[in-house]
This record gives sequence, structure tokens and C-alpha cells, in this order.
Amino acid sequence: ERSQVHNFAAGPSPLPTSVLEEAARGLVNYQGTGMGICELSHRGKEFKGIISGAEADIHSLLSVPDNYSILFSQGGGTSMFSSIILNLLAAHRLSSSNISLPASSYTPPNIDYIITGSWSSKAYSEAVRLCSPSSTSSPTYAIPHIAANTKPTGYTTLPSKEEYKFSSNPAYIYYCENETINGVQYSLSDEFSFPFDMIPSHIPIVADYSSSFLSRPIPHLNKHAVIFAGAQKNLGPAGVTVLIVRNDLLVDTSLAYSKGGVIPTPIGMEWKIMAENGSLYNTPPVFAIYVCALVLKELVRNGGMEKMKEINEEKAKRVYQVLDKVETIEKMKGVVREKKARSWMNVTFEIIEREEDFFKGAEERGLRQLKGHRSVGGGRASLYNAVGLESVDKLCEWILEFSRV
Ligand code: PMP
Repeated sequence: ERSQVHNFAAGPSPLPTSVLEEAARGLVNYQGTGMGICELSHRGKEFKGIISGAEADIHSLLSVPDNYSILFSQGGGTSMFSSIILNLLAAHRLSSSNISLPASSYTPPNIDYIITGSWSSKAYSEAVRLCSPSSTSSPTYAIPHIAANTKPTGYTTLPSKEEYKFSSNPAYIYYCENETINGVQYSLSDEFSFPFDMIPSHIPIVADYSSSFLSRPIPHLNKHAVIFAGAQKNLGPAGVTVLIVRNDLLVDTSLAYSKGGVIPTPIGMEWKIMAENGSLYNTPPVFAIYVCALVLKELVRNGGMEKMKEINEEKAKRVYQVLDKVETIEKMKGVVREKKARSWMNVTFEIIEREEDFFKGAEERGLRQLKGHRSVGGGRASLYNAVGLESVDKLCEWILEFSRV
């Protein structure tokens, strides 16, 4: 029975029951058309209404300024790792100081990555893979540079301000706002907030918001060039990725390629083409976008980002408080030691003794999908928007009960 299950999955993750029920109806018969949403043309008025509604809701929920485009793409966060490199290197090549240079005198720029966990590490690896020469005769497109790296801590904290070593003029700076596997997240203010003040305003800043998108307001959205998020955490089913991109970075990548010095961009990954076609250059994942649109409507109805922030802060606070409490009796403990670097969305913890018993007891109580990512082990409770306070309280009760035996 769905109502007896508390689902803490890291993604795909729970969605509001009311949304799923409406989506189930729309899958069979969309608003009395006698046809399901997956059977209607993506260019028909029904779907156009859905996608433009979703875009408008993201625009208002996050107060996205008018000089940004909101795009729906496919291929997940992983494809974004690649398309960021391709589109932003093309934009850099076409920037006013580089456009007239012949390929032979164009210098490949640095691209800066801040590595704070598994996902930013993967994004960096893709930069190395795409940009590095395969032989001495092939070109270098860009030089990936690690601006900070918390791997030596096991990704259990974030860099301090002194630890950032940015290049002098990188084509962009990349970071991951919330590391889903490791449970670290940039804080909204003070210590461990993102160091915007260290970065000159002309350098594009790129953020992976996959696992925290729409869980609270985005601080300094207007200081970013690109923000992206796979849908499958707070927003909807896997299969669609939201991209918020500043309009000056929507460039003709074929033109950049014709000038030399950059990598060709596959057509389905060119942001300019996506934007010019309202995310309908090719057939989009209609069902996934439909469910996202329903979730967004509910978010707007429920009070938007300030309300979500209040609830999500409370949920995280309750779980960390319990973990800090049981730590003293050495049964379980939170993995992330610095309080300001702790994720509100993915609480990672260690079960010091009898780990299997912890998970078995959790299952018996309807607490599901609590295992940590296979690469790190331990436990992880993901507290996305659709996870209610009552589920959080059930989890806290079990942690306390388990630790006392
Ligand atoms: N970035 C983050 C922060 C993620 O959590 C994930 C997936 N969990 C990805 C990127 C990769 O996304 P995808 O699986 O959609 O390619």
C-alpha cells in the first residue's frame, strides 16, 4: 500500500500521489480528448499549453530574469556534462576578443572545475575526455583545470575560501550545488556558500542543480550563466533535463566550428537551436514534461520556493539532530561533519554496527530505499520535496530505536 511506504530514494524518487493520479488519468484520456497525452502531437495545442505552462511556472517560482531561456532537453545530467563544454567553448570562440583570430593563433582556454563529490568529478572527467588531444598531432580544445578538490576529505566537506585556485581567465567555472552521493551542499549564506565574490562578473558560472532544483530559492541565480537539473529528484520522471541559460550564451556552434579551435556540437545538443524552437526542435519526452508540469503547478499552489525552503530545512534539521544525538553512543553518525556543508536533500550516514539489521528493521517499518550509493555504502536518506514530515519523523524514530538496542 503506497500510503504505508516512506520512500527515501535518491532518484528516481517519490512524486506527489495527487500528481501521479492525475498523470495516470491523462495517460489514458487527456482532458476529455479521448486520447492519452503520449498519443497527442507534441506540436498540438494541448502539449504546447503544457510545455509553455511548465516554463512559465519555473520562471515565476525561481524568479528567472528575462535575459535567460528555460529549455527542456534530453539525455540527463550526464549529457549536460558534455553539452556545457561544447556550447560554452563555442561561445568563448565567438566572444568579441576571439572571433577574428585565425585558428592557428587562437589559444585554448582553461575551463575550471570545482570538485566536491562524485558528480562534479564525473563532469570534470568528461571535460578531460572531450578536450584533451588523443595524439600529439590533434588539437587541444581547452585545458581542464581543477580549481578546488575535496577528494582528500572523502568529499565530506566543501572547500574553504582560501582553497579555491581559479585560473586567471577561464572560459567558464563549473560547480555542483548539491552532491547527491556524498551529501554535501553549498549553504545559502556565510561559510560554505558559493564564492561568487571571488569570480569576475564576465566569467560564466555553471551549476549542476540536479538534486536540489526547486527545493529552495536559488541564491544569486542572476550571477550564473547556466543552471541545469535532471528532473528525477524534485521535479518529475527521468527523461527530461531543465536548462536555464543566459541568452548571450546561445550561439551558433557551427559558426564557431568553422573558425577552428573548437569541437563540433551534435545538433540535438545545440542550445541556440533548442531555444529558437521552444525546446521542440525534435520530439521531446512528452510524458515526462507533462508530469513535471503537474508537479510545478502543485508547487505554485502550495506557496512556492519560500514555503518549500521552510519545510525542507525543517526536515533536514530533524534528521541531522537525531544523527548527532546517536553519534555520542557510537551506533550511527552523519558522514558530513561541517554543519554548514550538509545537504538538505541527501543525508548520508554511517551505521557503525549491525548495518544489515538497520536496513532490515527499516524495511519492516516501511522505510524504503535508504541504502547509500553503491560507490560509498552506508545509508542515505533523500528528503526531496515529495517526502513528508511524517516520513521524516518515522525515520528519526527508527534511528533512535535502533541506536538504543
Ligand atoms: N548530477 C547530479 C548532482 C546527480 O545527482 C546526477 C544523477 N543522480 C547526475 C548529475 C547525472 O544525471 P543523469 O543520471 O540524469 O545523467
